[in-house]
Amino acid sequence: MPDFKGTSNTEDEYFAREDAEKKRKLALQVKRETQAAERERLRALHWMRCPKCGMEMQGLKMRGVDVDVCFSCNGIFLDQKDLEHFEKHPGGAVMRAFLNWLDTEKKK
Ligand SMILES: [Zn+2]
Repeated sequence: MPDFKGTSNTEDEYFAREDAEKKRKLALQVKRETQAAERERLRALHWMRCPKCGMEMQGLKMRGVDVDVCFSCNGIFLDQKDLEHFEKHPGGAVMRAFLNWLDTEKKK
């Protein structure tokens, strides 16, 4: 049977552990929220910006295929589903149409 002091120390430790656990969970929550806010800040900063030159990209749609085009450096950004479209239609007219469009834009 623990004496009063021993019981009190055990209780103190219990509450200290509880308190530390609450603080740890709060710190993790703040960290997650900060990361989410940072991701949102980066998304807003980079959304529709060319990953190569940083200029604004233009969304184009041709025959059901969406591509983001940078007319500054002629970069093209594709989603995976659109890349799969080109895989299914290799050498297809859609890619040629996009490339012709870029060539036309280059000549302007
Ligand atoms: Zn670019």
